[in-house]
Amino acid sequence: MGLSKVGWVQRILTRSKMGRRTASRFVAGETPESAIRVIGELNSQGILATLDHLGEDTATRADAEKAAGDILLILDLIDKAGVKSNVSIKLSQIGLLQDEAFCIDQLKRILDKARLYNNFIRLDMEDSSLTDRTLNVYWEMRKHGYDNLGVVIQAYLFRSEADLCELVEDQARVRLCKGAYKEPPQIAFPKKQDVDANYDHLTEILLERVAQEVREKGERGDIDGGKFPPMPAIATHDPLRQQHALEVAERLGLPKSEVEFQMLYGIRRDLQENLVAKGYPVRVYIPYGTQWYPYLMRRLGERPANVWFILSNFFRR
Ligand SMILES: Cc1cc2nc3c(=O)[nH]c(=O)nc-3n(C[C@H](O)[C@H](O)[C@H](O)COP(=O)(O)OP(=O)(O)OC[C@H]3O[C@@H](n4cnc5c(N)ncnc54)[C@H](O)[C@@H]3O)c2cc1C
Repeated sequence: MGLSKVGWVQRILTRSKMGRRTASRFVAGETPESAIRVIGELNSQGILATLDHLGEDTATRADAEKAAGDILLILDLIDKAGVKSNVSIKLSQIGLLQDEAFCIDQLKRILDKARLYNNFIRLDMEDSSLTDRTLNVYWEMRKHGYDNLGVVIQAYLFRSEADLCELVEDQARVRLCKGAYKEPPQIAFPKKQDVDANYDHLTEILLERVAQEVREKGERGDIDGGKFPPMPAIATHDPLRQQHALEVAERLGLPKSEVEFQMLYGIRRDLQENLVAKGYPVRVYIPYGTQWYPYLMRRLGERPANVWFILSNFFRR
């Protein structure tokens, strides 16, 4: 059983100061205001943001509507504060587990509001039980004419190359990550080296398509104050994967503005700063809110050293 499902661990962490202190390394506070403050600080260092109001696997329609309402509020706050940030959401937060049509209604409310502010919504990718449904909702929105949204492709899934090829045909804005959930070997590469090799392969597919777009239509330029990402978002803290993406981009002669690098709040600040210094757009994923427990567990699961970080907080007075 994964740590995220162990009830007593959850109870201790979410009810204690120690738990909140641990979460604060990866989560920008529990209120939207604290998150907006963090975005302002990052923006002043040349870093863009994508804001995630934490929450997933919402159990009732009423909760899903409330979550959608909170996301609308965030779009207002981003606009009011004038910060350079778009928004990332999980469809299970706004009703995908209840009913797809209901979820689509919630998403339309969000996309309409985002469009009003010339802002952009990224659909995070959840575990493989939701891959098809998330991509269906994405394509449904495209059919309805929305263009202010993008998706995520996970390099650990065997199916991802086929999904990515379909998406790049639509010039979709794709965030490429390795994948954060525990998946069975029937559908996902079990070995890290295979995930890494697939990540590099998918990076090439993505960047080659962008190069074709730039040749045909020219450079995109910053038309929206840093809210709309370019087509590819290379979302990893792995310096070798980043280096590979940089080499491919250079070989293809891509303008720097056409390739965005994304990292998570609290992880590898050094790499974020290096890429900014090289002149590439860097966007940091900033989660905030009270429902930080599943997010924290995924970050801990990725790196055993993080468990020491928890323990050291536990013993610190
Ligand atoms: C912007 C962004 C958005 C994401 N969105 C999604 C999504 O929608 N769906 C999804 O499944 N996954 C998502 N992820 C998570 C991703 O799939 C990986 O689980 C996570 O990024 C770790 O993999 P890595 O690419 O950094 O490579 P790894 O090989 O795991 O790590 C490379 C190096 O990064 C550092 N590092 C990585 N993780 C941690 C950590 N938790 N704590 C401390 N250091 C760490 C370490 O130095 C490590 O050696 C996202 C990641 C990013 C950066």
